[in-house]
Amino acid sequence: MITIQLSDRQKKIIDIVKNNEPITSESIANELNLTRATLRPDLAILTMSGILDARPKVGYFYSGKSNFNLFRDKVTSIKVSEIKSIPVIVDEETSVYDSIVNMFLEDVGTIFVITEGLLSGVVSRKDFLKSAIGGMDINKIPVGIIMTRMPNIVVCTQEETVLDAAIKLIEHEVDSLPVVEEVDIDNRKGYKVLGRISKTNITSLFVDFGVKG
Ligand code: ADP
Repeated sequence: MITIQLSDRQKKIIDIVKNNEPITSESIANELNLTRATLRPDLAILTMSGILDARPKVGYFYSGKSNFNLFRDKVTSIKVSEIKSIPVIVDEETSVYDSIVNMFLEDVGTIFVITEGLLSGVVSRKDFLKSAIGGMDINKIPVGIIMTRMPNIVVCTQEETVLDAAIKLIEHEVDSLPVVEEVDIDNRKGYKVLGRISKTNITSLFVDFGVKG
């Protein structure tokens, strides 16, 4: 899908088509006092980007796709699997101290916690700060004590769109989501952690759209 900056002439063409559809390229050229050859590249851009629809022997129609709709198409066509990053995972028994060191070394803001291979919790910067302010012995206390626990973890799957994931981040006011797959290990149902989607992933995508279109 292409997000484009429309030229003044292209905007005029859209207006002409909106008001006169269906209209042939010849009639559009007449309205603008231009030749059909001059208009060809503009019409090609407008049809390729989905703004205009060309029907042979009938003419051009306005298909109603604004740049905003194109942006929407884009964020709903990209799957979580395409932009996910590597998750940082610790075991529930890991001390709070070691988990904090891990957070610094891996340069992330959220760590996912697993118990016997399955997602059991999430721990964020604020959880660590709370434990430090509370005067806990962070060398002795396991991360499992301070984490947010299942089933209160908001997750997403690889097949969800980046728009779905972004909506969850906003609605639940969290910085990241574990990307999971439902599994059954020795009759224990739960989530295997495959990746991570954070506000940073979404922001990078947004920048990509802005720079590359
Ligand atoms: P920060 O601590 O930097 O504000 P968050 O806003 O992500 O980071 O975390 C706020 C709270 O929400 C923390 O208590 C954290 O454990 C919890 N949390 C973080 N991510 C999730 C998630 N995906 N599902 C449920 N709770 C989460």
